[in-house]
Amino acid sequence: MTLPTLTEIRDTIRSRTTGAREWMGYTLERIDALEPKLHALVSYDGDRAMEQARLADERIAAGQPVGPLAGVPLLIKDNLCTSFGRTTCASRILANFEAPYDAHVVERLHRAGAIIVGKTNLDEFAMGSSTENSAHGPTRNPWNLDHVPGGSSGGSAATVAAGVVAGSLGSDTGGSIRQPASFCGVVGLKPTYGRVSRYGLVAYGSSLDQIGPFARDVRDVALLLANIAGHDPRDSTCVKRPVPDYLAALDTPLAGMHIGVADEYFGEGLDPEVRAAIEAAIDVYRAAGARIVPVHLPHMKYAIACYYLIATAEASSNLARYDGVHYGHRTAKPRDYIDMYCASRQEGFGDEVKRRIMLGTYALSSGYYDAYYLKALKVRTLIRNDFEKAFKEADVIVGPASPVPAIRIGERINDPLAMYLMDIYTVSANLAGVPGVSVPCGFSSAGLPVGLQLMGPHFAEDRLLRIAHEYQLRTDWHTRVPPIALEMSGQ
Ligand code: GLN
Repeated sequence: MTLPTLTEIRDTIRSRTTGAREWMGYTLERIDALEPKLHALVSYDGDRAMEQARLADERIAAGQPVGPLAGVPLLIKDNLCTSFGRTTCASRILANFEAPYDAHVVERLHRAGAIIVGKTNLDEFAMGSSTENSAHGPTRNPWNLDHVPGGSSGGSAATVAAGVVAGSLGSDTGGSIRQPASFCGVVGLKPTYGRVSRYGLVAYGSSLDQIGPFARDVRDVALLLANIAGHDPRDSTCVKRPVPDYLAALDTPLAGMHIGVADEYFGEGLDPEVRAAIEAAIDVYRAAGARIVPVHLPHMKYAIACYYLIATAEASSNLARYDGVHYGHRTAKPRDYIDMYCASRQEGFGDEVKRRIMLGTYALSSGYYDAYYLKALKVRTLIRNDFEKAFKEADVIVGPASPVPAIRIGERINDPLAMYLMDIYTVSANLAGVPGVSVPCGFSSAGLPVGLQLMGPHFAEDRLLRIAHEYQLRTDWHTRVPPIALEMSGQ
């Protein structure tokens, strides 16, 4: 038994075989059945979504032109601003925040005809690797409810894995799309920095953040990317550069694949079962005629330290705006205005966010700036240079997305350093700005998914997705469905 893909849903709506209303009914039923177990949503509006589905059906029946995602139900991470409903970032400080505008990607999805059913759970302000740092409580992994779905875009990954929707959006600052995709057995893409506008994405680490899609196969991810990528003058870091036809690229013949493999991705701390699954995936490429080339990323050993300095420094600056005046929660009875700032932030932010604000403020303080922040920026350049060099030899670099399969809920929550170390294989792509995708490539003996990460040169998403697609043509890991997703429909 499989779940419908985004492309299938889109096609049946377009051909009027199954209406947008029927698909929306199916989606809302799945939310009712699965949400009590998964806790993957922050908010949704079934009436609004059903009304939009009705309009989509009407338009199609009348033969009016519709967009490439007409009537398709989607979910988005709750750090993307929407002019409807709330945008909470899973923080008490934004519990009642209603954004005055739509994020660029939300506008684009609307223009394409997609229906945003609701907003998914995340680690507060996208800070975390397990979705346990949410003020709304943790999301659970559909493959095993005692395990985390990964983070920070855990809700977006879990809902796709459980077949609540066939596609969703997340954000990735240091792995928050690829790692949850890996933990939940779905495909997740972090595009090149500058490929997708960040306008309306609540900022965490502005020089690292990118928005990207989740789906169950590479074709659906390409379809979503095609509908969110491109220039937007409202994000000055969004690059003016033509958007390739990602879907057409998937069907072009692949000549001479060079698959880069870096020792640095197979070091200490890598779970042996994850290693075995990744090595088997490399064999699939070898059997497909690819040349496997060794590449070196000598500065990767500094990536976690470098990332957690830069990300926290940027976060401490970005989060200064939540002061009880400009946005969000304000304390009830402040003694004076200083107390108003302090108490509002004290009450509004969770522990991990406070830890990062303190770390970042420290790294940026005069006297420590040169030793920490500036040094980290220099290391970042070295990491970027490593990738540039490696991509002279290889089309893509493959390795694990995470050193371990999904951890248990509570397992690392009191050990921030152990939690940070789970990001070891993902943060360097953000530091270098290169795109990365995680595709399902096997299971641990405990039945938890393993993700294969592929990273490519800047703006080479077309080739990256083409090579990831080649893997899916030769394997069927991406068609596996967690039992929970089948139980509910009695299938
Ligand atoms: N786990 C990383 C962090 O906590 C990455 C989060 C993300 O990509 N948003 O910063």
